[in-house]
Amino acid sequence: ITVTDLVNESYQRIGEVEEKVQAFLTLDEENARQKAKELDKKLGTDEDKGILFGMPIGIKDNIVTKGLRTTCASKILENFDPIYDATVMTKLHDAEAVTIGKLNMDEFAMGSSTENSSFQKTKNPWDLERVPGGSSGGSAAAVAAGEVPFALGSDTGGSIRQPAAFCGVVGLKPTYGRVSRFGLVAFASSLDQIGPITRNVEDNAYLLQAISGVDPMDGTSAQLDVPNYVQALTGDVKGLKIAVPKEYIGEGVNEEVRESVLSALKVLESLGATWEEVSLPHSKYGIATYYLLASSEASSNLARFDGIRYGYRTENATNLIDLYKKTRAEGFGEEVKRRIMLGTFALSSGYYDAYYKKAQQVRTLIKKDFEDIFEKYDVIVGPTTPTPAFKIGENINDPLTMYANDILTITVNLAGVPGISIPCGFSGGLPLGLQIIGKHFDESTVYRVAHAFE
Ligand code: GLN
Repeated sequence: ITVTDLVNESYQRIGEVEEKVQAFLTLDEENARQKAKELDKKLGTDEDKGILFGMPIGIKDNIVTKGLRTTCASKILENFDPIYDATVMTKLHDAEAVTIGKLNMDEFAMGSSTENSSFQKTKNPWDLERVPGGSSGGSAAAVAAGEVPFALGSDTGGSIRQPAAFCGVVGLKPTYGRVSRFGLVAFASSLDQIGPITRNVEDNAYLLQAISGVDPMDGTSAQLDVPNYVQALTGDVKGLKIAVPKEYIGEGVNEEVRESVLSALKVLESLGATWEEVSLPHSKYGIATYYLLASSEASSNLARFDGIRYGYRTENATNLIDLYKKTRAEGFGEEVKRRIMLGTFALSSGYYDAYYKKAQQVRTLIKKDFEDIFEKYDVIVGPTTPTPAFKIGENINDPLTMYANDILTITVNLAGVPGISIPCGFSGGLPLGLQIIGKHFDESTVYRVAHAFE
């Protein structure tokens, strides 16, 4: 099988299903075919080849790609062609993967359903009337629909794990600092991480391997060696200690979701692991804390979209201030504006102590909850989401219900630890996700547990 075959296969599948699924915003067909040809000409043994040699990959549209349109699914970046590559793109290039195109998302990664895209609504391949999750909904849907075997997403509060759960694929949010954020359009800089979305755990480990590592262009990337994740897939979970937070399987969690987690725990028990119920006492403050902090950071990060430097500019401004106002009013969608207003309010003098500062303090308590558990246990296991995929339109006019969906994923970002979602049964024909959370920089153990199910 040649790289050209693989790339053909990818575009053929896109030709068959994309009209229905609508996962891609931009295709890069000419370049991908050219790259395939070049790779096919390359001689040498496997050892001379990159670890993702010839693998088709889709990229979330908030990761900048040199010369390839990068919109963040926002009108404000509708015509934006970056002049440089994100570090993960350089690394994928070194790994010899082939970029197939850019994937739909909630505008600036704000959302849980991909309905906040300014351009199109991606459908869940399992049920076209349902959302694929978000904000990396295009990435998860493209993998689930067989359009690409590999995709990159980003996760600030669950945006890799929740769509992976809704679409029945594998998605990992790495430890904060594991993967460079250089070239990831910032939403909430202290929470954002790029991570892999794939069909199985092994592929996921390969993709993380390719994109991880310290980067001089990102001061928050960690100066730590990257372990061999693929070697960690031993299937051996004997003696492993698992914590199951009662907040994750208690009230508000759908019965089938709870059952699926309990049966996954039985599997791990049969392989020699043990589990106990624990508590994450501050997780009930997770949503409030996250939405204050993430919106505050977003309000500051999105100040750069001013109509001057790049992207959309209004056509009917009378002076500079008017130009800023109109550009932003016309360019940003509803949800993005809501977050900018919320964040600006939380950071304004007089309110800072009551909101932003308080939220930072609670974040520290949430982080401590995790540290306490990880003193005694190797991993935390629970569901990824309280319910399976909801219907398109069902929650979009009710931001609080939409935010509440993230309850099981956002504390992981606040603590900075790694978390994966793997497929774990079905509810009413829709896939459910099992979430496995690990210690800082211990993706290997997370993968090892995840792999035990394959
Ligand atoms: N749903 C969350 C939000 O809207 C998480 C988004 C994300 O992880 N990018 O903020």
